[in-house]
Amino acid sequence: KTSTDINVLADEYLRLSYHGLRAKDKSFNADFKTDLQTDLPKINVVPQDIGRVLLNLINNAFYAVNEFRKKTDISEEYKPSVTVSTSTNEKGNEIIIKVADNGPGIPKQVKDKIFQPFFTTKPTGQGTGLGLSLSYDIVKAHGGELKVESPYPGGVGGKGKGTVFIVKLPV
Ligand code: ADP
Ligand code: MG
Repeated sequence: KTSTDINVLADEYLRLSYHGLRAKDKSFNADFKTDLQTDLPKINVVPQDIGRVLLNLINNAFYAVNEFRKKTDISEEYKPSVTVSTSTNEKGNEIIIKVADNGPGIPKQVKDKIFQPFFTTKPTGQGTGLGLSLSYDIVKAHGGELKVESPYPGGVGGKGKGTVFIVKLPV
């Protein structure tokens, strides 16, 4: 484990994910922004592992808004959007990372299964269904928590029901 600035990871992986998807799909376009707490304490984590978690969550979010953009019949009005935010809890002993999107949201029956290995709703070849189960294990191994809230209308403006993934890591 290394003393790590989560804000740097969040910023890096948001850009990496956005430009990675754009390289694969020229029609892909989304607003993305960070809302990072300036005095966020550094925490001891395995940076590659927590980076992997962030990348999984951010890739999922961009994928969701991009598919929604293609399906929705009001595509001119719909502005795909992904936001990554960091903060601490009141006691200051926990870092909270949120990855929020204004995509279609996750139906209840699907939400119950998303952390299971190999569960995916993506077409063959587009998803392994391992991202969230791996992310869950990594966060647990760091003594943290990974949760999802969907619908998430408060987080990002726009048309979709929205989803937010919340990672909590001990300081
Ligand atoms: P994969 O991305 O390979 O499908 P994951 O474990 O990362 O595997 O995700 C599992 C499933 O969770 C996805 O197939 C999708 O149905 C759902 N999911 C994850 N993130 C989102 C999101 N931001 N919006 C909507 N659905 C999501
Ligand atoms: Mg995934």
